[in-house]
Amino acid sequence: MEEKSTPLEVCCGQESAGRDTCELPSVGFERTPRHKAMCPRCEEVGKAVSLRTVKSMLAVSLRSLSAREYFFCRSETCPVVYFADADSEVYRVGDVRERVYQKEPEAEQVFVCYCFRHRVGELRHGPESDRQARVQDIRAGIQKGQCACDLRNPQGSCCLGNVIALVHRIEDGRSHAGGSSASISFREA
Ligand SMILES: [Zn+2]
Repeated sequence: MEEKSTPLEVCCGQESAGRDTCELPSVGFERTPRHKAMCPRCEEVGKAVSLRTVKSMLAVSLRSLSAREYFFCRSETCPVVYFADADSEVYRVGDVRERVYQKEPEAEQVFVCYCFRHRVGELRHGPESDRQARVQDIRAGIQKGQCACDLRNPQGSCCLGNVIALVHRIEDGRSHAGGSSASISFREA
């Protein structure tokens, strides 16, 4: 489908899930975001997430919340998922209700699309037609307004960029190992 080349044109209708907060190209952090904050553990710049996202994703008592602004740490090797800028308040992978795709991007059972429930392994093991069908399913759900990325996806924004990047990684891996393409990786290397 020709839509394939514009992975980020559609995003969820929620206020927190627009293009500014979408997960794709992390180079976007070069332009001045409204607020930069570094993860206290890995010192990578986090991505601002809404308080709603943190509240809905935590598996611990929300009585522990003390900040109004939280950030999502997407470093694969860092156990911190959310952190508050002002103090040392952090929430780790074990404090979150879902397994986090960015922390376990190769884990078969982890969702890459949380709203429509597509797992990494499902994308990895099917034929290409199945992958494309799943991407279409996600697009259709977005268009129908059925997604709730800010409440279901730990990153607090649309998964579609992650899904398409994963599909590209899988296809690249099939055709030739390690070819760089237009796909985006969250990992620096
Ligand atoms: Zn971190």
